[in-house]
Amino acid sequence: MASPAAVVTGANKGIGLQIVKELCKKFSGTVYLTARSAQRGKAAAESLQKDGLEVEYLNLDVTNVETIKQAAKYLRSEHGGLDILCNNAGVLFYSKTKEDFPKEAEETIATNFFGVLNVCEYLFPLLRPHARVVNITSGVGHLKYIKDDTIKQKLKSDTLTVDELRDIMQQYLKAVRQGDYEEKGFTGYPDMYGAYPMSKIGVTALTRIQQRMFDQERPGDDIIVNAVCPGYVATDMTQHKGVLTVMQGADTPVYAATLPPVSGDAAPSELPRGQFIINRKVRKF
Ligand code: NDP
Repeated sequence: MASPAAVVTGANKGIGLQIVKELCKKFSGTVYLTARSAQRGKAAAESLQKDGLEVEYLNLDVTNVETIKQAAKYLRSEHGGLDILCNNAGVLFYSKTKEDFPKEAEETIATNFFGVLNVCEYLFPLLRPHARVVNITSGVGHLKYIKDDTIKQKLKSDTLTVDELRDIMQQYLKAVRQGDYEEKGFTGYPDMYGAYPMSKIGVTALTRIQQRMFDQERPGDDIIVNAVCPGYVATDMTQHKGVLTVMQGADTPVYAATLPPVSGDAAPSELPRGQFIINRKVRKF
């Protein structure tokens, strides 16, 4: 049976959990709360079920391709497709020492950037017409934090490919290992955020490529992908210093996940597509 389905990654807590709650109210289909830990994921899903929300748990670690394949297989057999995908899972290390940085950078880029790529590789083939994809980025996922002009131009090029972007992220990791990432002109944001800005710049750039690919490969299917910054939200990630509540933080992601369908013969859509959105407003990359 082709019943509607939505997937949120990294949804056992924080903004992801709130996105799941809101989608349960706004989306008429099954909402999958996915998590890398079965224990944390099931506990979160059960607490929402106790509140009367219709939510299902699905195991999905964005760095473990096997779990993504399993989730894709399950969604295909249960729903025959997918209607909303929210790539929310993320990590942030507040880098303590120079020695720790390469390891933290590997994990940050593996989760925040390659994790999104992994999930999209297996779940994009399931997307039905009018599907909405939300890639959670950050205010620091912006080109202004890249020092080198050549890297900046490449990242914002309208012909950038996924392979080229993948390569830039690998070059960044290599530079981190060599200790010359600043000289090479990668992110010059305060060190306390480590590789996080670079990982999110990758997500924002990826979003633009993905929209271009859908427009070329599935014209008329009205599939929309946007990169959304939730704002500075009080969660574990920000050590609860964020100024927004999770409800406020989930607002723009849920808005982007539920953009209305545009029919094939409608006038060109005014909806944001392949954009960088903060507070429901499109920002320049
Ligand atoms: P939290 O730390 O509260 O939640 C992060 C979630 O991601 C957790 O559920 C965590 O699971 C999950 N996660 C981490 N690694 C993986 C993985 N490999 N596979 C699956 N899930 C994983 O953070 P927030 O809710 O604040 O952040 C949510 C998103 O919003 C992130 O992408 C973040 O970068 C972004 N963001 C947040 C901002 C903020 O101010 N809070 C600002 C801008 C962007 P587990 O519990 O198992 O660790």
